[in-house]
Amino acid sequence: NLSNKLQDTFKRLRGMGKLSEKNIEESLREVRLALLEADVNFKVVKDFIATVKERSIGQEVLNSLTPGQQVIKIVYEELTKLMGEHEAPLKLADRPPTIVMLVGLQGAGKTSTAGKMAGLLKKQGRRPLLIAADIYRPAAIKQLQVLGGQLDIPVFSLEGADPVKIARQGVEYAIAYQRDLVIIDTAGRLHVNEELMNELKEIQARVNPHEILLVIDAMTGQDAVNVANSFQETLGLTGVILTKLDSDTRGGAALSVRAVTKAPIKYVGLGEKMENLEVFHPSRMASRVLGMGDVLTLIEKAQSNIDPGKAKNIFDKMRKAEFTLDDFLDQLREMKKMGPLDQILGMLPGNMSKQLKGVQVNEKEMVKVEAIIQSMTKQERANPSIINGSRRRRIAVGSGTTVQDVNRILQQFEQSRKMMKQFADMGGKGKMPKLPF
Ligand code: GDP
Ligand code: MG
Repeated sequence: NLSNKLQDTFKRLRGMGKLSEKNIEESLREVRLALLEADVNFKVVKDFIATVKERSIGQEVLNSLTPGQQVIKIVYEELTKLMGEHEAPLKLADRPPTIVMLVGLQGAGKTSTAGKMAGLLKKQGRRPLLIAADIYRPAAIKQLQVLGGQLDIPVFSLEGADPVKIARQGVEYAIAYQRDLVIIDTAGRLHVNEELMNELKEIQARVNPHEILLVIDAMTGQDAVNVANSFQETLGLTGVILTKLDSDTRGGAALSVRAVTKAPIKYVGLGEKMENLEVFHPSRMASRVLGMGDVLTLIEKAQSNIDPGKAKNIFDKMRKAEFTLDDFLDQLREMKKMGPLDQILGMLPGNMSKQLKGVQVNEKEMVKVEAIIQSMTKQERANPSIINGSRRRRIAVGSGTTVQDVNRILQQFEQSRKMMKQFADMGGKGKMPKLPF
């Protein structure tokens, strides 16, 4: 799926020490294909890639210490923008009741969403009323009544009346009984047609809703854009609710619908249960589409905590095989600044953190290493080969550890120095090793 594909691309990007325009173009070609395959509208994809490319090719990125990560960050930021950037809360009427009308095709999730929304808003202290204005499907009214019963929220219905009349009288009922929020559940059709649009237009004209929200199934794919456009043109949507995001889709539809209609996504449905409705957060959706967990938080954290000058310095020394115990200690300290290691692991996306879970992360060991290195003289740190038996004993006593501990740390240091040297040689000139995350 989209997320897996992007993750592969991003993994490669993250590993690249230096990027050229060509690298970036290749990576963005992959991003473009992945988005298209996920049913994101081609025009939306085109504009998106153009923007990301323009920002990525800037000097700021190419000259940065972690260019691959910068590009990922730009993709993420632009994706968030595409999805509306900020949350879009429900517009409440100055004079209650706030009238919300749900529209959409049959099976999109209108009736369940009406219940979910009413339940959510009730928890926030509102007094909702549900109006059953779908008279075509025999079970539709019953379905809403059952949900209302579960949530202890009144459901207004009117036997034998037309949808317009039901909606009007429902609103009057709300006023009479001090319900401050009205949700009208309307009928859908299998496809957009004039009959449906006319009926909805008429309800809209007669009740003047504050919010007219399109409920759309995230699995609809490419067609979602056309559906959304028809509703937008006829009714003028104030927002969108995307349902069934718990399904396999990675939100390709979400991307296009918002971009094409400009109507903000207000809520998302994440399951069949009444509590499975959430306010839509563009940034969270962007990470979901990219399948990155909170990896961006992590990148930001690393950027703000790791001193790029120091990291570069260490790297240069490594290449010249001048990496000393002082540098080793510096590196450990830089890592420590990022915060507790298990917290960092928790921020990584699922498969990555699983991989790392196997690695023993031992904070106690880090403290020991620090104590041992600090107990060495300047000379010893710069030139570990002079650390003979008696020096080892002195260091052990000074750091409150044992000679075995000192031996082990020196061995580890020697190993990592060798490894880094190899790594640096392998990577060629100017190539940064991956930072420790
Ligand atoms: P309507 O015809 O637009 O009123 O659609 P319904 O509310 O009757 O929903 C159609 C089907 O989709 C029902 O089986 C719902 O349980 C299901 N459904 C609605 N929203 C979601 C969702 O967010 N996730 C999942 N998995 N199913 C949903
Ligand atoms: Mg329904």
